[in-house]
Amino acid sequence: MSTIAENIAKVGARIREAAQASQRDCATIGLLAVSKTKPAAAIRQARAAGLCDFGENYLQEALDKQAELGDLDLTWHFIGPIQSNKTRAIAEHFAWVHSVDRLKIAERLSAQRPPQLPPLNVCLQVNVSGEASKSGCSPEQLPALAQAVARLPGLRLRGLMCIPEPSADPAVQHAAFARLRTLQEQLNLDLDTLSMGMSHDLEAAISEGATWVRIGTALFGARDYGAPSH
Ligand SMILES: *Cc1c(COP(=O)(O)O)cnc(C)c1O
Repeated sequence: MSTIAENIAKVGARIREAAQASQRDCATIGLLAVSKTKPAAAIRQARAAGLCDFGENYLQEALDKQAELGDLDLTWHFIGPIQSNKTRAIAEHFAWVHSVDRLKIAERLSAQRPPQLPPLNVCLQVNVSGEASKSGCSPEQLPALAQAVARLPGLRLRGLMCIPEPSADPAVQHAAFARLRTLQEQLNLDLDTLSMGMSHDLEAAISEGATWVRIGTALFGARDYGAPSH
């Protein structure tokens, strides 16, 4: 078995245990493999070991890998910060965007979604850690943003996403994820997705209702940002 296949088995076991501990059906929890900075060959191995959904943060890097992996049936998720000049390519080349945090970006994605494709699945990224984090809309901005995004024809608003400040304290982890779940419930929209939980905190996220956990390091190993691959 490759290291990646072994890691997938370990992460799968963590997800199943966490689901069991909170009496959730693990079929309701998706594993999104975060492949940023990792080569196309790593994605190929992960696909061979059963994963279908891949998350990327950097547009050009993602487009290069998509071109290299065109023979595989993969579902691509954009999970990084979005600049306005990147929305057209994102609308054309991804099935999901987890990191929408302002209306202007949502409007562009909606208008630029090719009509022959199904609506783009989107999550609104919310800043649940206050001043410590710069990405995401504030909880105060969320209701108006969600109402407006839900009306855009090229998008299908699925739910919320967060990246809390890293903490080793399970109580702090739980509080951030519970906050996101509560914010989603208060919206009173028909939403089915909570994108939350990474390699170090997926257990807390699952116990608070995560439906996508976004896992990089635990599947592919530590990232080397100095590498020339991106
Ligand atoms: C990098 C990244 C992840 C994965 O983080 P790990 O700690 O490596 O599992 C998840 N979500 C987002 C938005 C990321 O940028």
